[in-house]
Amino acid sequence: MAQGKSVPTHARAVIVGGGVSGCSVAYHLAKLGWRDIVLLERKQLTSGTTWHAAGLIGQLRGSANMTRLAKYSADLYVKLEAETGVATGMRQCGSITVALTEERKEEIFRQASTARAFDIDVQEIGPDEVRAMYPHLNVSDVTAAVHLPLDGQCDPANIAMALAKGARQNGATIIEGVKVTAITSANGKVTGVDWERNGESGSIAADIVINCGGMWGRDLAAQSGVTLPLHACEHFYIVTEAIEGLKRLPVLRVPDECAYYKEDAGKMLLGAFEPVAKPWGMGGIPEDFCFDQLPEDFDHFEPILEKAVNRLPLLGTAGIHTFFNGPESFTPDDRYYLGEAPEIKGYWVAAGYNSIGIVSSGGAGFALAQWIHDGEPPFDLWEVDIRRAQPFQKNRHYLKNRVTETLGLLYADHFPYRQMATARGIRRSPIHEHLKARGAVFGEVAGWERANWFAEDGQEREYHYSWKRQNWFDNQKREHLAVREKVGLFDMTSFGKIRVEGRDALSYLQRLCANDMDVEPGRIVYTQMLNARGGIECDLTVTRLSETAFLLVVPGATLQRDLAWLRRHLGDEFVVITDVTAAESVLCVMGPNARSLMQVVSPNDFSNDAHPFGTAREIEIGMGLARAHRVTYVGELGWELYVSTDQTAHVFEALMDAGADHGLRLCGLHTLDSCRIEKAFRHFGHDITDEDHVLEAGLGFAVKTGKGDFLGRDAVLAKREAGLSRRLVQFQLTDPEPLMFHNEAVVRDGEIVSIVTSGNYGHHLGGAIGLGYVPCAGESTEHVLASTYHIEIAGQRHPATASLKPLYDPGALRVRM
Ligand SMILES: Cc1cc2nc3c(=O)[nH]c(=O)nc-3n(C[C@H](O)[C@H](O)[C@H](O)COP(=O)(O)OP(=O)(O)OC[C@H]3O[C@@H](n4cnc5c(N)ncnc54)[C@H](O)[C@@H]3O)c2cc1C
Repeated sequence: MAQGKSVPTHARAVIVGGGVSGCSVAYHLAKLGWRDIVLLERKQLTSGTTWHAAGLIGQLRGSANMTRLAKYSADLYVKLEAETGVATGMRQCGSITVALTEERKEEIFRQASTARAFDIDVQEIGPDEVRAMYPHLNVSDVTAAVHLPLDGQCDPANIAMALAKGARQNGATIIEGVKVTAITSANGKVTGVDWERNGESGSIAADIVINCGGMWGRDLAAQSGVTLPLHACEHFYIVTEAIEGLKRLPVLRVPDECAYYKEDAGKMLLGAFEPVAKPWGMGGIPEDFCFDQLPEDFDHFEPILEKAVNRLPLLGTAGIHTFFNGPESFTPDDRYYLGEAPEIKGYWVAAGYNSIGIVSSGGAGFALAQWIHDGEPPFDLWEVDIRRAQPFQKNRHYLKNRVTETLGLLYADHFPYRQMATARGIRRSPIHEHLKARGAVFGEVAGWERANWFAEDGQEREYHYSWKRQNWFDNQKREHLAVREKVGLFDMTSFGKIRVEGRDALSYLQRLCANDMDVEPGRIVYTQMLNARGGIECDLTVTRLSETAFLLVVPGATLQRDLAWLRRHLGDEFVVITDVTAAESVLCVMGPNARSLMQVVSPNDFSNDAHPFGTAREIEIGMGLARAHRVTYVGELGWELYVSTDQTAHVFEALMDAGADHGLRLCGLHTLDSCRIEKAFRHFGHDITDEDHVLEAGLGFAVKTGKGDFLGRDAVLAKREAGLSRRLVQFQLTDPEPLMFHNEAVVRDGEIVSIVTSGNYGHHLGGAIGLGYVPCAGESTEHVLASTYHIEIAGQRHPATASLKPLYDPGALRVRM
């Protein structure tokens, strides 16, 4: 690679960082035919984190799309040596993940079912089969395992070198020893980079810069005002001396003991994902860091080693050749960052790999390059999208706290509904303490504390996690039935709220939204914003407040993404876009008794004539004011009350004081979810994403092609012409016992066809409920429904009812009562 080579003054794209991430992005852009791309590495390729990775390539990941990307990497790395001539050490030795508990068995078997939906070769096996493949292992307490014959191990530095060589073969320029001192921008757009090398400095003009700076990436981004929340942690492994007679072995993971094992050239490597990690680099990453390692900490590693010696007794007599401690970057939610930063056009990111950067970077580099090339991701990448980062997450104190937990999460039990334990309480509703005093058990989304369920007096206010019914199942049932039969109160203050106003607000929103925004002030419109493929970018309600002002209400988790979409698509229209999330709280009064309750706390008229469905009215409530929006996400009569934050506690108290006579019950987010899935209401990020065509998602009723042109209209017309190739179907398991969460395999007439996109328990319908896409090219509705459906959960197939109309209240009579 070139060191001392002259640095160009212009490039189509500049990649910052020559770890596996930057090399993969360069490789994939070059493969797409991008010629004048430049990768700058401050020291030498791989000298950051990449050189010392353990090199495990495991395809089984926690979710469907991460599994898809990991499989891409594994497939690519197998071919790379032949393509580039660089020996990558890639060996498909297979892998075994063993479970030591029934809970872990359920988890890995569930993952296996998901993986099969993506054509990954995976088998569930028992202790005897494990011993046959791994004779040295103590399997006395092994409950089960999964075997992936095509998983492997590699030499990570050489994978990066092979990607770099492949990039150069296809025209990319790679220069070592050049540090990017700033990513420059003007008028919200990237203009290039400033660089320096041994006292020499210069700049490259470019419209696209990709920050692949690993653990340096956060501070580099912060210089440009870009939020890239990550923090380094120490990560440990040991390598033994050569062990006599050790034969080739598959990679072994024992997550219940936080350990992974790799046999390499007759030695054993033992690595750890301990529950409480050690953050590192709080004052920034040292300038001279290059192929460095951190001091060993035997006391920290010892508990892992003790268990490992019991698991693999031959370790007891093996000498330790290397004690390795290296830094790696971790993120607040254990997922990496890809995509274009919302703050600056042309500023792209691929960083924060949480100790799975080798296995992830192949797929991530492919996906990011395609995204840059096409302007759209090749498939839904919301899980790792940089636009999920919240501005407050730049806070280093927060990051340091949180990453102590995220490292260990990789091997923790991934129970459904699992909540983060660290760095909590940052964003709170004005009635947080009120809810807490009444039994709220909180979960966190985008930093918001949200009441997920309410404990009874005397009940422990904590989650007991399980793959079966968790300790709050009956609480949810009481809340769910209160919403269906009486009235429930939800605090949805975490909703994102965006004000769009100005002379051109209407025409601008008409251009972006699929539904018709030209309605009377006071009307609420449910709509999607589509991309050019007809995929769903944003799912929202828009309330017309006046001739020139609109309020957009979006999920709390998607606010930054939605703001970015709005701002990116603003032309020269006279429109002001303001995030007003913190200005108003949202209290949702939902259920058949909602009207009678509202009539006691407010002198306004809540009849259908005075306040029909889909309208918003200012009301008096208690001794304050609110804007009451007649909409619902649970499928009942109800109002969302938008209350300025200063009056929220007062309005809450007024509702609670009057509520007892109407059967009012405080309800949490778990109940919101179970009610909305009974009604087959879609949720962005699960059931609907930028990959899902609005018509296939069953949301054609919210698309008005007759109103004139809008973004995605052509794709809607084309799909109408061509017919649907898949449809979102609602499922209910016939047996009331098993549970669905999401990612379970959907089986149609004996064949796995897709996965469940969201699931919960339908306490009114009396069984697990979920949504999932079913391929249906050229088929009629009757044909789709005539099939036999099962949902595969942890390897077992359960019969399911399928429906294209909501199983709960298909005629929507409850909403308009
Ligand atoms: C002990 C250990 C074991 C691991 N084992 C595995 C494993 O088995 N499997 C797996 O998949 N992953 C593993 N990982 C994780 C993996 O190593 C990382 O996720 C991956 O290497 C991250 O790659 P990167 O390119 O993002 O970062 P890096 O490799 O750190 O690359 C970033 C590069 O950017 C350069 N840079 C930064 N700032 C600038 C600038 N301003 N200008 C120019 N250049 C700059 C740096 O010098 C550096 O070379 C392990 C990690 C550790 C620590």
